[in-house]
Amino acid sequence: MKIAVFGGTFDPVHNGHLGMARYLLRSRIVEKACFLPAYLPPHKAGKKKIQSYEHRRNMLSLILEDGMEISDLEKQRGGISYTFDTLSFLTQERPEDEFCWVIGSDSLRQLHTWYRAEELVERFTFLTYPRGGETLPTAVELGEHWQENAVVKLTGQILHTAPLFPESSTEIRRKLQTGDIATIGNLLPAAVLNYIKQNQLYTGE
Ligand code: ATP
Repeated sequence: MKIAVFGGTFDPVHNGHLGMARYLLRSRIVEKACFLPAYLPPHKAGKKKIQSYEHRRNMLSLILEDGMEISDLEKQRGGISYTFDTLSFLTQERPEDEFCWVIGSDSLRQLHTWYRAEELVERFTFLTYPRGGETLPTAVELGEHWQENAVVKLTGQILHTAPLFPESSTEIRRKLQTGDIATIGNLLPAAVLNYIKQNQLYTGE
């Protein structure tokens, strides 16, 4: 089975994450969309406070539709969640499945800084989802950090015709912190917003 893995912090999950998963399923690019919340995200650990794994996972569980699931693998494995380790484990454990890791175009720009980046791109598939409000990195730009075969592979796996989503968790947290919540209902599912309100998340940080 072809499975799209959405690795991320999901702090909180938003309409962009959901829209991306819906697009990949509806266009039959994949048969399953698996949200895999990072337990201790390497790029975010220590830099800012993130909500607990349980809260981030609970919010994800409120948005699941047909074909979508959550994996607790990074929590079960514990420690810092390196994508290289997660994908190595998944491909070894489930050789019958084909995994592709979905990243936004902002993450593609940073991918060379990820743990064991060269091997990561050589061994695994990364689908890049264009991010609303961001330009896509060009082959020339990627060539500053990657060998030519990696540039060819990465640029070949960009979902050029996918619908764009402007949402970001940073923007949602900012709105919640500053009380700018008039339009926040457009950015994330109502059930997630209710959960945030009930648990008083993101305010007063
Ligand atoms: P933050 O603002 O806290 O960095 P985020 O909105 O980027 O959060 P993450 O959970 O970090 O959300 O995202 C997981 C992955 O999904 C990343 O690769 C990110 O680039 C991608 N992504 C998130 N939102 C979008 C979006 N609106 N369009 C395309 N890709 C997105």
